[in-house]
Amino acid sequence: MMRCSKCGEESIIFLHYVRKHLCARHFIGMFEKRFRSTVREFGMLKKGDRVALGLSGGKDSTVLLHCLHDLQKDLPFELVAITIDEGIAGYRAATRKIAEKEADRLGIEHHVVSFKKDLGKTLDIILKTDQSRACSYCGVLRRGLLNRKARELGADKLAIGHNLDDIAQTVLMNIIRGEPSRSRRLLEPLITNEAFIPRIRPLLRTPEKEVAIFAMARDIKIDHRECPYAESALRQDVRRHLNELEEVHPGTKFKILSSFLKMENQSRNSKTQDAELETCFSCGEPCSGKRCKFCEMTSCI
Ligand code: SF4
Repeated sequence: MMRCSKCGEESIIFLHYVRKHLCARHFIGMFEKRFRSTVREFGMLKKGDRVALGLSGGKDSTVLLHCLHDLQKDLPFELVAITIDEGIAGYRAATRKIAEKEADRLGIEHHVVSFKKDLGKTLDIILKTDQSRACSYCGVLRRGLLNRKARELGADKLAIGHNLDDIAQTVLMNIIRGEPSRSRRLLEPLITNEAFIPRIRPLLRTPEKEVAIFAMARDIKIDHRECPYAESALRQDVRRHLNELEEVHPGTKFKILSSFLKMENQSRNSKTQDAELETCFSCGEPCSGKRCKFCEMTSCI
């Protein structure tokens, strides 16, 4: 049995990037401290904010729900949760139920927006003939509906459960695709457009594996089911290679994040105008061109 490097109790995790074993108590303490310092570092929340959380019912957003709820005891802000039900048979109903239960357990106002009601079709129907770009379609539609609902609810911020692995993968994928500037969206408080609710990612310094272990240690119910459409082949490849690199070179994911933040800082100091958004001529939503991706996609479903 491995012992906690701090107190000698039974260890539940080995943090290879700092070469330390931690027991449940010290791991939970470290996790919560890092969550709070990330919120402070990026100025993500302030007293009196109204925050909408995108709550899928998966592990990341469910853990974030609990962390934000705990934070409310020290920083008064309002918290509401929004679940997008894409209509994915055999998957979303279960995670939606967890989202409803957890929000109810913590007494947090919870709203569900469904593709079927808002777009007239479930994701299963939209993808019936072509599933090759499932996540690209789904991602655009989900983000569009989340932004609209958050705005309708009067939210100042939209909290998203992206973890360190998600961010490192996205930064690398954007480089591989030759679109590095797309990563700027990961730091959206830069964007100035009234219709766009700035997104915050308080778990961006938290490795995915630690989110799952935190949920276990805090007895938070999570669902390990994977979406049947999975994700793009490229993301799967990048994830696998990153995990292999992390094994051999501990701390790789943290280093990708800190390199991205350094580059972002440098370019922000020299050029602030790039972050401004246009307004879609068709629906009036914020977008980076003349017509938003949401309208492009919904016009052909
Ligand atoms: Fe949508 Fe892809 Fe996420 Fe499934 S994995 S919910 S298709 S974005």
